[in-house]
Amino acid sequence: MTDADVLIIGGGSIGLNCAYSLLKSGRKVTILDQKNIAAGSSAGNAGHIVPSHIVPLAAPGMIGTALKWMLNPSTSPFSMKASLDPAYLAWLLQFAMACSSANVQRAIPPLKALGLLSAKNFRELVLAEGFDCHYHETGLLFLYQTEEAYAGGKHEAGILHENGLPAEILDAAEVHRREPAALPGVIGGVHFTGDAALHPGRFLEQLARRVRAMGAIVHENTVVSGLQSENGRITRVRTNNGDFSPALVVLAAGAWSPTVVKGLGINIPIQPARGYSLTMRATKKMPRQALLLGERRVAVTPLGNVLRFTGRLELSPLDTRVNEKHIKGIEQAVREYIDLDASLDIQETWAGLRPTTPDGMPIIGYSPRHNNLLIASGHAMLGLSLGPGTGQVVAELAAGSPTAFDLQPFSAERFR
Ligand SMILES: Cc1cc2nc3c(=O)[nH]c(=O)nc-3n(C[C@H](O)[C@H](O)[C@H](O)COP(=O)(O)OP(=O)(O)OC[C@H]3O[C@@H](n4cnc5c(N)ncnc54)[C@H](O)[C@@H]3O)c2cc1C
Repeated sequence: MTDADVLIIGGGSIGLNCAYSLLKSGRKVTILDQKNIAAGSSAGNAGHIVPSHIVPLAAPGMIGTALKWMLNPSTSPFSMKASLDPAYLAWLLQFAMACSSANVQRAIPPLKALGLLSAKNFRELVLAEGFDCHYHETGLLFLYQTEEAYAGGKHEAGILHENGLPAEILDAAEVHRREPAALPGVIGGVHFTGDAALHPGRFLEQLARRVRAMGAIVHENTVVSGLQSENGRITRVRTNNGDFSPALVVLAAGAWSPTVVKGLGINIPIQPARGYSLTMRATKKMPRQALLLGERRVAVTPLGNVLRFTGRLELSPLDTRVNEKHIKGIEQAVREYIDLDASLDIQETWAGLRPTTPDGMPIIGYSPRHNNLLIASGHAMLGLSLGPGTGQVVAELAAGSPTAFDLQPFSAERFR
């Protein structure tokens, strides 16, 4: 059995950011990953850093919207698996119950605090470490083709204003001035000017290199098969490459987190929500900034000499296979909004799993039953964006020092 100070399970966005902050605070770090670090469900995502995203997925009207989408499966951005798995059914019920104004009001202050902390940490981290990852603070521009969706965007801008965050409502002329690649069918937009974007794969590769240089020990192709506990402490982490005896465990296994802690008697209701991306060589008329296509929920991110589209949210099994039909559907959706070359030089297609909780909030904090198990998971569609803030507060919890803000709303206790 190998001793370890802090053992991090999972080397995606959350695991690597935790590693960075823990190393900076003086801890010794070991990272285990069942595959490679800096990959997981984090590398192929849209790369949006969105402190504007303060309204959780579980919000009023969401069930109706999802049902409406599912009536048209060929263009729907959403689908759900048919399964009688009790954990999945319980999750669906909890999600339906959380689609309320009360949940939104409860979620906004902590999501705002974590989002702003992360955005600040991203800026400082990229600058301090000199990462070359196409980091750009040009905001996130939502484009709309229908009055109904545009009204929804204006409503969201109002929520941001009430919470002291920037959002500009743009008429057709202004949206076309800011984004010349937009097609005439775009009738308006909302520009979340406090947002940023970067190339997630490049960012994570450089962060991984940095944490190795800072002394992290990394074991790739190392699958954690279970945790053993005694008297409220994790005493053994079992893997296919031998067992570990850590002082502290950080669970950052994304959508796989519930399987890792199976049998420990803790409830972390996380379901995988698969999405896809396609990345191509730069097009002739590259968009100027990160975009979100309102009605179709597809993201478009210019990343230097490549352009990436991402979309779909499928409540799915733990399966990262790419479905080419949906890749085509995403490309088709972008063609409705953006002036694209007739033929695209696609370099990569990808699928990843968003670790999704029923109330739309991550789980960050100590296990309700173990005093040396920290959970940092369930970041859903925000796991890149919220990475550096999560890393900081996890390091603060590990040190027993005051945290940047109150973490109680993120506690796993809420699912007891
Ligand atoms: C299409 C799409 C677009 C997205 N766009 C954005 C965006 O623009 N901005 C944003 O903020 N977020 C975005 N997201 C969400 C973001 O990608 C996720 O929230 C994020 O990847 C979660 O990070 P994580 O570190 O928790 O999990 P992961 O990245 O999945 O990392 C978990 C790691 O744990 C490892 N692991 C799992 N089980 C074990 C085990 N038993 N033993 C050892 N290792 C294990 C895995 O191999 C993996 O490397 C998007 C997601 C998708 C799918």
